[in-house]
Amino acid sequence: MTGTTRILAIDQGTTSTRAVMFDAKAQPLATAQMPLPQIFPRDGWVEHDPELIWEAVVATCRQVIAATGGIDGVAAIGITNQRETTVLWDRKSGRPVMNAIVWQDRRGADMCRELRANGHEPLIQARTGLLADSYFSATKLAWMFKNVDGAHAAAMRGDLAFGTIDSFLLWRLTGGRVHATDATNASRTMLYDIHKNAWDADLLALFDIPASILPDVRDSAGVFGVTEASLFGRAIPVTALVGDQQGALVGQACFAPGMIKSTYGTGCFVLANTGPTAHTSHNRLLTTIAYRLNGATTYALEGSIFNAGTVIQWLRDGVGMIASAAESEAYAAGLDKDGGTGRIYFVPAFTGLGAPHWDPDARAAIIGLGRDSTRAHIVRAGLESVCYQTHDLLTALAADGMATPAALRVDGGMAANRWLLQFLADITNLPVERPIYGETTVLGAAFLAGLGIGIYSDLHAVEAAWRLDFQAIPTMAGGQRTARIAGWRDAVARIRTSLDGR
Ligand code: ADP
Repeated sequence: MTGTTRILAIDQGTTSTRAVMFDAKAQPLATAQMPLPQIFPRDGWVEHDPELIWEAVVATCRQVIAATGGIDGVAAIGITNQRETTVLWDRKSGRPVMNAIVWQDRRGADMCRELRANGHEPLIQARTGLLADSYFSATKLAWMFKNVDGAHAAAMRGDLAFGTIDSFLLWRLTGGRVHATDATNASRTMLYDIHKNAWDADLLALFDIPASILPDVRDSAGVFGVTEASLFGRAIPVTALVGDQQGALVGQACFAPGMIKSTYGTGCFVLANTGPTAHTSHNRLLTTIAYRLNGATTYALEGSIFNAGTVIQWLRDGVGMIASAAESEAYAAGLDKDGGTGRIYFVPAFTGLGAPHWDPDARAAIIGLGRDSTRAHIVRAGLESVCYQTHDLLTALAADGMATPAALRVDGGMAANRWLLQFLADITNLPVERPIYGETTVLGAAFLAGLGIGIYSDLHAVEAAWRLDFQAIPTMAGGQRTARIAGWRDAVARIRTSLDGR
């Protein structure tokens, strides 16, 4: 490959679409971004217009191609995407039958309650590694078939195609020639057997979904197809598809079993590489495919926290306690280590509690306030809550058989906060590591695309490219850590609405 070789990575996220051009050494050369309008037809429903997603992908790709010297030298395209979001489209016209139903959309919640009541969850967990939840694609697709006139009959005739966003974009980019997805995205549909690496006939029957609509499931890296030459001026191979959290795991070079990455954005997603073994969680974590390369599947355990960055957003926009997200650091750092009366705990269950508690009806609380408590104490407690919640997830991972990791690799907007990273190291008792290039999701897509086209021969090249920017080493005394964690557990127990994980 020549020195001008470039890789174009697309990150189609929940709130924005980005394209980043990388050089062959995975250095970013140019970035373009467009916001994505959110559609809320009803409380708890969230949709995206797939045409707007498509237009944004084409526009941002064209921008970074133009900014980096044109299409010559662009060797491959990699796509990473918001997971689970569901598109159903007409194979002839290419038009979606309705808006995409977004992962956050809860319209399938009743269906999931029914599935659990009827005892289907063990089968779902055994086959897919997931819990019966409306986040995943299956109930979204079932809803479309129930509510879009003629959709089921059209699917039976073979006229419709289903895909998560990666699959829809691949289909569009290749001019409707390739209908495929990768194993990471398939593993989030609740229709895919992650052990057999195949669509599951029993689950398709359970959700009444015709098999004719399903994409072909492939490795995360490899040549999926080539783009329509008219789109960018030349046909470019698409050589990677990967779900966003799995993309971040790759971008963080977490390739050895036991390595963990934690992404702190609006929410927080922790993924732990478990190697070729799919660990079944007994602590309400998800088992998922981390990546599939050369036919070999690597698995991960995943836990998510609904409210991480939202704590800071609420402190800023909800109650006006801070003027900017960055200001939270100065407030927390300005206090004595133990300033204030006792300990204040902020349990930010604004939209319920995620893993490992799964209590959607719990609501937030700030407890332990004294007469001398100040804004700074509340801000600090908000930052601390993100660390305690991470500790809860790591505890669940350990209970599911994961060995203690050597370090916690972090990224996302909140990872800018060094005070947070130090408290995270103290509470988890692990070194916390932040890489130089924080956009790990899109970097992961670029790495996989490079692997898929042979720019990189294996994952070692990715490891070599990972560079440490900031490290926090635990310094808190063991007794203090234990006491604080006990205080957090007590605070969480006070807001739980049920204790059975529902
Ligand atoms: P997403 O991808 O989910 O939109 P980002 O990774 O961009 O999120 O992170 C944005 C979140 O990080 C916001 O919720 C913001 O409040 C929070 N954030 C940004 N900077 C800081 C900071 N210095 N300290 C704490 N939180 C921060």
